[in-house]
Amino acid sequence: MRKVLIIGAGGVGQVVAFKCAQLPNVFSEIVLASRTEEKCQAIAEKIKTQLQREIKTAQVDADSVAELVALIEQVQPFMIINVALPYQDLTIMDACLQTGVHYLDTANYEPLDEAKFEYKWQWAYQEKFAKAGLMALLGSGFDPGATNVFTAYVAKHYFDEIHYLDIIDVNGGDHGYPFATNFNPEINIREVTADCRHWENGEFITTPAMSEKRHFDCPEEVGDYNIYRLYHEELESLSKHFPSLKKAQFWMSFGESYLKHLEVLSNVGLTGIEPIAFQGQQIVPVQFLKALLPDPSTLGPRTHGKTCIGCYVRGVKQGKPCSVYVYNIKDHQACYAEVQSQAISYTTGVPAMIGAKLMIEGQWLKQGVWNIEQLDPDPFMEAMNQYGLPFQVIENPKFDAFE
Ligand code: NDP
Repeated sequence: MRKVLIIGAGGVGQVVAFKCAQLPNVFSEIVLASRTEEKCQAIAEKIKTQLQREIKTAQVDADSVAELVALIEQVQPFMIINVALPYQDLTIMDACLQTGVHYLDTANYEPLDEAKFEYKWQWAYQEKFAKAGLMALLGSGFDPGATNVFTAYVAKHYFDEIHYLDIIDVNGGDHGYPFATNFNPEINIREVTADCRHWENGEFITTPAMSEKRHFDCPEEVGDYNIYRLYHEELESLSKHFPSLKKAQFWMSFGESYLKHLEVLSNVGLTGIEPIAFQGQQIVPVQFLKALLPDPSTLGPRTHGKTCIGCYVRGVKQGKPCSVYVYNIKDHQACYAEVQSQAISYTTGVPAMIGAKLMIEGQWLKQGVWNIEQLDPDPFMEAMNQYGLPFQVIENPKFDAFE
């Protein structure tokens, strides 16, 4: 039983707080801190009403190591679950080192002034965390997160060597808005407009964003969707930790309306991250756009449909070619009924809770900085089944899109 400090009170923070609060025997005390404490208080209120459990709240600017250190010293948690924005990863890791506290996140560090996410900054903390006897668990969301564990799980149980990996993220949900993003709009837009990179024959190949398109027919009647190739951060760690991979790609579904709006917004410069002068002040276009768009944490009650996220892996077993598709399907309204959030926040928040639980219980606790696929996938997969994200495995499926 341990005390945990959650930082970030957005869509994902709400799910993490709810899921931790459901397990008082693991998370004996919960403190939820963020830049705007009222958002933490609103979540605490919902948890009190729904689960009859009290959680504490606090205000913190996680860009400031000094503020973080003061809060951590006051709270004295076992670990921090960082579900603020990727910009805060390094300051929170620094504060953990100064205070002797373990660390977990769901997205890798990204500098504010450059839409470039890479693990190099966080991997550089390896020695510092190991020397301090602390653990940093990187990428414990769904993608990255569950998709990395899916890959490790099938590599362990179904293959001698894995050669091809296609991560397919379909959101079949509809929130009824012409344009809205399911997680932080600024991070989402930076991600989908960045150049695409995929792993092929020992190197990353760069192509224009979303220039490759396929059709994917999801299992269990979730539907048939257009999916587009993007760069996603787990490709970097998975290609490093599974050197037998010849090709690794990431695909995401987008509807016509989303793509049309994104194209227009990009063409008029509203997705830019360079500050511009406007009426005597500097504004960053994508941050201004974020202020206009629906807050992802408010999409829960109006989002219907399902997500289907999984990994299609091909390789060899006992000299013979074989393939496996491992996936989870989650219903948006079922998530809303349980934790008052839509499925994108839910599918991110549950793996964050599971990663923290495995650290607290000692099964995953190791010194140093670890990507999630480096740890034993079995207890995580078992917990996925137990805590709301059951997975399915199809052996030797037929996917025309990838043959
Ligand atoms: P939101 O924008 O909804 O929430 C972010 C929260 O972080 C807000 O409460 C915000 O506070 C807070 N925050 C921002 N800056 C600071 C700061 N300097 N100090 C303290 N708090 C701060 O984002 P989401 O909940 O949608 O996403 C959270 C994280 O999860 C992101 O890093 C995102 O990339 C990641 N993610 C990972 C996924 C995965 O599968 N691995 C999928 C989806 C998201 P305020 O309200 O004041 O702005």
